[in-house]
Amino acid sequence: MPYLRVALDVPLPRLFDYWLDNATPADIGRRVVVPFGSRRLVGVVLAILAEPEYEASAIKPAEAVLDDMPALPAPVLGLFQFCADYYQHPLGQVVHTALPTRFRDPNPYRVAEALRYHALDSAALQAQVPKRAALQQRLAQLLATPRSEAELRAAGGTAWKTVQAWLQDGRVRAEQLQPGASVAAPGPALNIEQTEAVQAISAAQGFAAFLLHGITGSGKTEVYLNAIAAVLARGEQALVLVPEINLTPQLEARFLRRFPGVDIVSLNSGVADGERAAGWVRAARGEAGIVLGTRLAVFTPVPRLGLVVVDEEHDASFKQQDGLRYSARDVAVYRARQAGVPIVLGSATPALESWQNAEAGRYRHLRLSQRAVAGAQPPQWRLLSTKRQPLQDGLHARTLAALGERLARGEQALVFLNRRGYAPVMHCGECGWMAACTRCSARLTVHLRERTLRCHHCGDEAPLPRVCPGCGNQDMKPLGQGTQRLEDTLAERFPGARILRIDRDSTRRKGSFEAALQAVHAGEVDILVGTQMLAKGHDFPNLTLVAVVGADSGLYSADFRASERLYAQLAQVAGRAGRADKPGEVILQTDFPEHPLYQALLDDDYAAFAATELAERKLAGFPPFLHQAVLRAEADRLDEALAWLRQAALLAPLSEAVTVWDPVAAGMMRLANRERAQLLVQSTARSRLLAFLAEWMVALRAQKAGKVRWSLDVDPLEL
Ligand code: ADP
Ligand code: ZN
Ligand code: ZN
Repeated sequence: MPYLRVALDVPLPRLFDYWLDNATPADIGRRVVVPFGSRRLVGVVLAILAEPEYEASAIKPAEAVLDDMPALPAPVLGLFQFCADYYQHPLGQVVHTALPTRFRDPNPYRVAEALRYHALDSAALQAQVPKRAALQQRLAQLLATPRSEAELRAAGGTAWKTVQAWLQDGRVRAEQLQPGASVAAPGPALNIEQTEAVQAISAAQGFAAFLLHGITGSGKTEVYLNAIAAVLARGEQALVLVPEINLTPQLEARFLRRFPGVDIVSLNSGVADGERAAGWVRAARGEAGIVLGTRLAVFTPVPRLGLVVVDEEHDASFKQQDGLRYSARDVAVYRARQAGVPIVLGSATPALESWQNAEAGRYRHLRLSQRAVAGAQPPQWRLLSTKRQPLQDGLHARTLAALGERLARGEQALVFLNRRGYAPVMHCGECGWMAACTRCSARLTVHLRERTLRCHHCGDEAPLPRVCPGCGNQDMKPLGQGTQRLEDTLAERFPGARILRIDRDSTRRKGSFEAALQAVHAGEVDILVGTQMLAKGHDFPNLTLVAVVGADSGLYSADFRASERLYAQLAQVAGRAGRADKPGEVILQTDFPEHPLYQALLDDDYAAFAATELAERKLAGFPPFLHQAVLRAEADRLDEALAWLRQAALLAPLSEAVTVWDPVAAGMMRLANRERAQLLVQSTARSRLLAFLAEWMVALRAQKAGKVRWSLDVDPLEL
């Protein structure tokens, strides 16, 4: 059978046939180099055929089938097909989104093996290196047992250089990891709830989805680690997905410490292309015990898959917002079902979609109700009404008092405001002029330090005007508060305090975020000012106060998901306060202290919040009670985008199960000089919606797009 059917990275929903002299079924799932127009492209063989679909004489020969990556197994190819069908995305592009970028290179790839390093004689090595060379001493000690490159690098500074020198002179030896060898190092004894959760997961026969609901610090990660230990002991592999921002060196180190002999592959956008490809290959060969990665890791071939974990499953970063707009959480659930293995979705504030799945009995609810460390208490919430209380530069008198107390006690505090810049608006009180972006429908944010106005959507910049461009008024005022202004205010109020601001502006330089975290850990900071960058994943043991300002803006938003996001964000930032032995306090300044969302937070009652939200969504007809897809169009002018969508609506197949709404301008209509519109379709029946979309896309792709760029987003998170 001399013909190959090949998936190529081109925006067409079709495959391409090539001729290969001695094609065999073993070529299926392998990469292949083929001519395409004037280019050479790398594709993936999806089938081999006796007869091509097209005129045989027009078919070109393939250059070569490469065997530098294990052939993609049928279940993984099935997963790609599922994504192509579900998200209405060309299969060739799905395949190329899923593969590490290194495999787009037609040159063969040589896989680096996973090695472990150890000293021939650790005691002798310790005696040889100078006593004062602390790093070398530490390394010599570490190398008494086999260590991964990541562990050794984590020792800091020139650690890796030193190890390589020792490798050169033979004092250190490198060995390949023995696949399958797995003895988990002991962890803390589990409490009753954790034990029950681990038992339930380990007892699952075939597919089962678990929603592990527990506040930060309740020991969810311990549950994962124990469930993974059981999987490894059976000789199977685990796939663990975490949000980008949570995949910290600390988390990796925790996994490495627990599973010292196991090849743990780390996959995320920060890993260099070659290393990512190497890890991917070791997972695909079944050598890696654990794949620990961000959303893109969901596509990794894992032949002996035994368990899938999605940590912080509610996190928006699991959804890709361009190209293949997939939800890695949802794909992970499909994958677990396909492989017939359990999946654990963990969160302190589960997505309401997942919560509803648990309520409906599709997922099993596992609950961790208290902090795992003995004596550690969840933080105490206090709502400060700002309704009739005059604020001092945006801060309540009691917030200032609480900050003062922490300073006096030598404890750290975090002031949380999810708005960077100095002020969100530059305003003229005389004529009402406001600084707006010329390219977007958005206001410009004042950045006083740099004396600029900046658009947070397209990045455009303008100098800060001295006089009003509208009327010449010389007394213009920045309105409202951003983190820069808050930082200035706090510096004035607490002249002796060491204040550090952490937001996207202050951490632009590579490594500056890590340096800032380091400073906090080293106790070089008294008051932290920060945005949501600080909300996640970082533990500061000496931090005992979190003060939240400016949260109210999330309460009354046009976006039906805004309150869900606000709850998750506040619960997460509150989790930063009082980790170990010191009780934490959370202060929230608000005009609406009676609001049910705040009351639920106060009682740490996510169930109550979820019940209220879900009841409202059911009444209003929102997800998860129905399913949505949005067709987006952008053009130079709004009317062009709208006209294209109106035409698209006319092409929609008739379906009584599907509602097609009128095209409207997008919430943010203008972005970077392009104008955007969208059309929402929805249905209570997911399968009917999918069938509708499939038919509709065929009709739309047959149309000329003209000057319009369009895309379809299935299960959109933002409308
Ligand atoms: P989560 O993932 O829910 O935030 P972790 O699993 O990270 O929680 O646990 C929080 C802290 O409590 C960690 O320092 C962990 O080592 C510790 N811990 C977890 N379970 C236990 C336990 N059963 N006994 C003692 N300490 C525990
Ligand atoms: Zn003016
Ligand atoms: Zn802009």
